[in-house]
Amino acid sequence: MQKILVSACLLGNPVRYDGASRPCAAVQELVGRFQLVPVCPECLGGLPIPRTASEIVQTTPELRVMSADGEDRTAAFLEGARRCVEVARREGCTLAIMKAKSPSCGSGAVYDGTFTGALVPGDGVATRLLTSAGVRVISENDVESWLVECVGGGGNRER
Ligand code: SF4
Repeated sequence: MQKILVSACLLGNPVRYDGASRPCAAVQELVGRFQLVPVCPECLGGLPIPRTASEIVQTTPELRVMSADGEDRTAAFLEGARRCVEVARREGCTLAIMKAKSPSCGSGAVYDGTFTGALVPGDGVATRLLTSAGVRVISENDVESWLVECVGGGGNRER
């Protein structure tokens, strides 16, 4: 059975910064069809639950991730991303379904570093590292189109 790396919060695990989860029906419906491997990069990087929210505030000349209360969390985010890649390699995952917009897991768009909810084009820290390691990263919003593309049909799943 194909193994897929998944943001743990999408499977209902209460690992978000606020101690909540973000269960996603489209992802949960993959249980039994694929072997889902849950990861939370921020937890793997040693950050606690709950924790102050963080955002990517700078990408060049080097990455910088800050918490809303001014703590530099770059090292924890990089460590968590590195460990996600380790898990993907160990488990043989070539696909990851990662939570949209997150500074760790987002793909294509992430919060802009102002903690206002605004988005900018870009990828989260774990997504970047996974992608550079050859893992395809999609968000929970792409699951149904991925099923149609790769499996031959995802049906009319609820959101
Ligand atoms: Fe979910 Fe990723 Fe945030 Fe962890 S780091 S709570 S898996 S979005």
